[in-house]
Amino acid sequence: MSEDITTAQDALTFADLGLSPKVLSAVTDAGYTTPTPIQAGAIPHALQGKDVLGIAQTGTGKTAAFVLPMITRLEKGRARARMPRTLILEPTRELAAQVEENFVKYGKNLRLTVALLIGGVSFDEQEKKLERGVDVLIATPGRLLDHFERGKLLLTGVDILVIDEADRMLDMGFIPDIERICKLIPFTRQTLFFSATMPPEITKLTEQFLHAPVRIEVSKAASTNSSITQRLVKSGAKPWDKRDTLRRLIRAEGDALKNAIIFCNRKVEVSDLFKSLLKHDFEAGALHGDMDQRARMAMLDNFRAGRLKLLVASDVAARGLDIPDVSHVFNFDVPIHAEDYVHRIGRTGRAGRSGKSFTIVTRSDAKHLDAIEKLTGQKIEWHDGDLTTLAPSTEEDEAPRRGRGAPRRAGKDGSARKGDRKRERPEVASTTPANDDNAANSIVPDVPDERRSRKDAIKSDNANRGSNNAKPKREGDQNRRDEKRHSRHDENLNDGTVGFGDDVPAFMKIAVKV
Ligand code: AMP
Repeated sequence: MSEDITTAQDALTFADLGLSPKVLSAVTDAGYTTPTPIQAGAIPHALQGKDVLGIAQTGTGKTAAFVLPMITRLEKGRARARMPRTLILEPTRELAAQVEENFVKYGKNLRLTVALLIGGVSFDEQEKKLERGVDVLIATPGRLLDHFERGKLLLTGVDILVIDEADRMLDMGFIPDIERICKLIPFTRQTLFFSATMPPEITKLTEQFLHAPVRIEVSKAASTNSSITQRLVKSGAKPWDKRDTLRRLIRAEGDALKNAIIFCNRKVEVSDLFKSLLKHDFEAGALHGDMDQRARMAMLDNFRAGRLKLLVASDVAARGLDIPDVSHVFNFDVPIHAEDYVHRIGRTGRAGRSGKSFTIVTRSDAKHLDAIEKLTGQKIEWHDGDLTTLAPSTEEDEAPRRGRGAPRRAGKDGSARKGDRKRERPEVASTTPANDDNAANSIVPDVPDERRSRKDAIKSDNANRGSNNAKPKREGDQNRRDEKRHSRHDENLNDGTVGFGDDVPAFMKIAVKV
């Protein structure tokens, strides 16, 4: 049985929630005065040691809803070697890194040890940290099980388990891993479980692993934020038509466009659009699943810091990323899965700000558009007339100049290089890690038998320990296993895009601390 709280307790202050003075002081320093509904609903129960089922999207403050009570509860007690005291499971490396940032921010008045077990980071470093004992372990499921199978990790000391973005875990095929991990952790643990939606598989999981959870639902999963102005924009179906439409929209927004994320359905489009935007002198970056961890973090850092105005991304690469003040979202393609629309446009209009989204629609998108309008329960307005007012395709733009249909190799186009050069900055050090090429420029086949592949990977990794040439490949593979091998989204289409080839712009090579 679960206690139902559909909450709007925003009259509360953080001081009313029962958090420790050290945590309260860090929250004040972060500039937060009022708990969000998910925080007001979850924190008091989490502090009492109850299981929590939080139905909330990113952007609602759900990370602090579990991080703040965890820190308060961790103030007492000490970590033992190889036995983390708490475990947080995240579907992607970026989300895991974001949660770590939250622990740094809110835990600054305490001496907590936080370790991140994610693909793309060396096993050795991670093992050393585990050996010293960690209070908080943040992991993607695949990497966690790899460490467990290597015998470097004991989960019997975990008192608090957090499963975040559970529906995303389902999309990525991580549920069997989650079930396995749940069984490795003592039954007496506290479980804090978060999901934006509750499909039947997730409900089953909560019934299996949560004990009398307090249920907190802060918004309907399919709802879109009313502070976002949504518009549909008609366009010809050819890629050059759509690129032309996008450029016109961006230019028409002028100064109102502070920064934007542009979503494409497939990574080949991410790559093509990115190059096209550079060619047209836009400050653009790109984010897709074939990029290695460092390149992605560098790209995000640049976008967050305002050094890049436009970020072209795929759904998998951008899911759950916390970029607080994006003014615009453009859907270069209508998403195939209606719920992706909600997630995409949810990148703007966050934390009380207003935002704008434009979705480029062609004649063949009717089915997917219908599904979106059904899911959100609202008709989206057209920007300047619907598809019936669309002129026949002009098919002009860049196509005739570059030989339409010919594959456009990264870096063989002088104007794209010009764009790249423009973005090179004097302070940028070109310190591409040794395995960047491997990670960014290779296509990884789907791994049909995950269990066998993990075993094989561990076997070969053990065999190759200390061997420099074997390791980067192993870790590149691991990166993708963590996020991609099960994805039903664009990233497993293997459509032939292999990163940016020779065209990796300098800002993607900035060394970042991972
Ligand atoms: P999340 O849903 O955890 O991704 O958080 C979304 C954003 O809201 C993050 O940038 C947080 O730093 C911010 N945030 C979290 N809690 C609050 C709060 N109580 N008041 C204002 N902003 C918050």
